[in-house]
Amino acid sequence: MEIEKVRCLIIGSGPAGYTAAIYAGRANLSPVLYEGLQPGGQLTTTTEVENFPGYPQGIDGPKLMEDLRTQAERFGADIRFGIATASDLTNAPYQIVIDGEKTIEAQTLIIATGATAKYLGLEDEKKYAGMGVSACATCDGFFYRKKVVAVVGGGDTACEEAIYLAGLASKVYLIVRKPFLRASKIMQERVMNHDKIEVLFEHNAVGLYGDNGVEGVNLVERFGAADEKRYSLPIDGFFLAIGHQPNSDIFKPYIDTDETGYILTEDNSPRTNVPGVFAAGDVADPHYRQAITAAGSGCKAAIEAERYLSERGL
Ligand code: NDP
Repeated sequence: MEIEKVRCLIIGSGPAGYTAAIYAGRANLSPVLYEGLQPGGQLTTTTEVENFPGYPQGIDGPKLMEDLRTQAERFGADIRFGIATASDLTNAPYQIVIDGEKTIEAQTLIIATGATAKYLGLEDEKKYAGMGVSACATCDGFFYRKKVVAVVGGGDTACEEAIYLAGLASKVYLIVRKPFLRASKIMQERVMNHDKIEVLFEHNAVGLYGDNGVEGVNLVERFGAADEKRYSLPIDGFFLAIGHQPNSDIFKPYIDTDETGYILTEDNSPRTNVPGVFAAGDVADPHYRQAITAAGSGCKAAIEAERYLSERGL
């Protein structure tokens, strides 16, 4: 297998990966960045980003990512299409296999692989994939104009998705398994006061039905209680917003993670348990998951990589 040696390898092209590339490029680390499965990361699936500092009028997610990419390229980052498929982090330099066919030998590695939306695990989610089931309202909401949709989840993501969909659909049901929302106060208020959104507390979705795509959802109210109630609700679209799974699988044999798979880092830094390997963005962040926090950690990771290399004269 072909082997290429690089000083600083970055895996992932969200705000963390691109920011790491900007800093590593400016520090003359000649960074090579592989974009991964979703070039530009999760923000390419959103419309407007209102809370990234410096854009008082907001900015389109895809445009923000394009700008970050251009900025990284300006400082010499070598940005490539490809997916990291295996790793060997036993000894430095570390080996990363790209697309199963090429090995990169990296003196430092920045893991910025992000996180992927979770599903409930129902057979019907697979059956109706692309036919009414989605984990991204901003990607697929357009198809549900003037239709009835349901969003599953009670966190900030679910509320955001519900509000976004309410701008398109005629009715949005928010299916929440607990008797309360976990989302921030402001999002809770927006959802509860929205005339197109109806929150179904203490509800679980247990199946979907329809001959030609999703036509409805089977619900259980107060699952397991004496007054448990089962019924079906006609809907056209079923959106999941129940959290994310960090994309850390290929690194897990070497890198410490929590039980969900989020990479554990030291002392509020991007340092992992393997020297010279750093983690930035959502793959190491179960708490904040913001573009700006991801960008900040990408910056830290590049600074750490630069220090690591200069301390060793590499
Ligand atoms: P959260 O983990 O906060 O919420 C997940 C929600 O999905 C919870 O209500 C949870 O229910 C529910 N859930 C999980 N599994 C299931 C299941 N199997 N069946 C039914 N319901 C389920 O994830 P989010 O993606 O909403 O948010 C993650 C982080 O990102 C948070 O810190 C959030 O604040 C932040 N965020 C911030 C935004 C912003 O500031 N603009 C936007 C989006 C996210 P339960 O409560 O019962 O566990």
